[in-house]
Amino acid sequence: MQRKLFIKDLDLRNKRVLMRVDFNVPLDKKGQITDDTRIKASLPSIEYALNQGAILILMSHLGRPKEKKEPSLSLATCAKRLSQLLNRPVEMAADCVGHEVEKQVQRLQSGQILLLENLRFHKGEEHPEQDPDFAKQLAKLGDVYVNDAFGTAHREHASTYVVPKLFPEHAAAGFLLQTEAEFLEKMLLHPQKPFCAIIGGAKISSKIGILKALLNKVDTLLIGGAMAYTFMKAQGYSIGESLYEPEFLNEAKSILDYTSKIPTKLILPVDHIIAEHFEETAVTHAVSNKQGIPVGFKGVDIGPKTIQEFFMILNKAATIFWNGPMGVFEVAKFSTGTTAIAEILANSSATTIVGGGDSIAALQNTGVMHKITHISTGGGASLEFIELGTLPGIEALSNVKVSINRNY
Ligand code: AMP
Repeated sequence: MQRKLFIKDLDLRNKRVLMRVDFNVPLDKKGQITDDTRIKASLPSIEYALNQGAILILMSHLGRPKEKKEPSLSLATCAKRLSQLLNRPVEMAADCVGHEVEKQVQRLQSGQILLLENLRFHKGEEHPEQDPDFAKQLAKLGDVYVNDAFGTAHREHASTYVVPKLFPEHAAAGFLLQTEAEFLEKMLLHPQKPFCAIIGGAKISSKIGILKALLNKVDTLLIGGAMAYTFMKAQGYSIGESLYEPEFLNEAKSILDYTSKIPTKLILPVDHIIAEHFEETAVTHAVSNKQGIPVGFKGVDIGPKTIQEFFMILNKAATIFWNGPMGVFEVAKFSTGTTAIAEILANSSATTIVGGGDSIAALQNTGVMHKITHISTGGGASLEFIELGTLPGIEALSNVKVSINRNY
């Protein structure tokens, strides 16, 4: 049998540990960190490595820079926050690769930490095939590699997928990655039934794979958010100016057709809160599917009847997975449906798993984070894990042979 190498399998003393963390934190308009959960989530691996006498080189991306330096997306703010959390200095590098960074790494001593600058300032991070040298330059900085960035483990990027392969037998999972994978495997690949998933958010296109995968895994799949309008349109209802994806109408139709032939139930909203614009000042109305959404209006949230119906279904579930808001929840007036789901999960006796920044923000706004069984730090990653049962960032780590001890 094989398993993946774990940070505790490595000898870290005086080793340069190149650790991929997920410091992709939300920032406000002034560039201040509004939620440091992700930085805190990486502390067990960071502290473990430091206690083992490692020289720590951390790398992460932040936001979506356009493959060039964008000062507003510098990781310097994260270095400061990490330094406060650890109560020790964290050096910041001016870049993530290159001669200067290599010299800076050479000067580091055991117990010191260097945070490399935003990986996505370089094209080679997201498109390793277009700049294979980028991964090689990163790999030069460490003796061993640790991936603790569960939130980006579904990406085949240089730092998550190519670099670990350049550390044969020395690429390990950190505590966060290991815990997330173990938990999701236990709860979602072998769930207690009835298993319900509730998926919302803006687009079908970004979640089509998971929607299909979930249909074969769950007992009931509830859909909310703007992605419901593509289904609604496919069913022939009028959706006014609601956000929808015309190029996914056929896909939505085939999903509807498929679910009519399988035991899994696909439940779509039966009513909607509509408004003329996405502003707090907008006047809202509730309409049923039959009434349809009139021209000039868009769906902004699920309606009260839908909330009631979703509650009845979720109330009977033994396992619930939630990803994606039920409406434009950033506008308080349109957040009722999303808040209701957060409260239903918080008060549920089921095993509840929530993945994704928006759903976590909704839990936070509702003050019920502590009532959820497991909050996954990776929205996309947790979705893809359910879909594939593994992630590219996990697959790229070194294998360890495990001997099975049989006690005859
Ligand atoms: P996603 O990243 O796909 O989970 O989408 C999250 C985004 O979907 C949030 O920013 C929501 O504002 C947006 N969203 C949810 N429902 C709607 C809707 N009815 N119309 C427009 N945007 C929506």
